[in-house]
Amino acid sequence: MAHAHYLVAKAIKRGELVRPKSCEECRKSPPPNRRGAAQIQAHHHNGYENPLDVQWLCPTCHLRVNGATANWPIEPDPLGDILND
Ligand SMILES: [Zn+2]
Repeated sequence: MAHAHYLVAKAIKRGELVRPKSCEECRKSPPPNRRGAAQIQAHHHNGYENPLDVQWLCPTCHLRVNGATANWPIEPDPLGDILND
């Protein structure tokens, strides 16, 4: 999962992704944290297979959304075991 976050960070550096100033959910603009880092977070709403398809959320909405999808990612593919055999 860390890989998807790394790809997002890289895309931001390259200018391929732009981190907005406000949350896509509540439209609030959280102030930077104590270290001065932006607080809007990339949420992988379509799963980590699409690492750059993200929704930008404030920490509050990100927590709420992740709580609602706590079972995500879905169960490991049962075929995976067979294919790895
Ligand atoms: Zn929000």
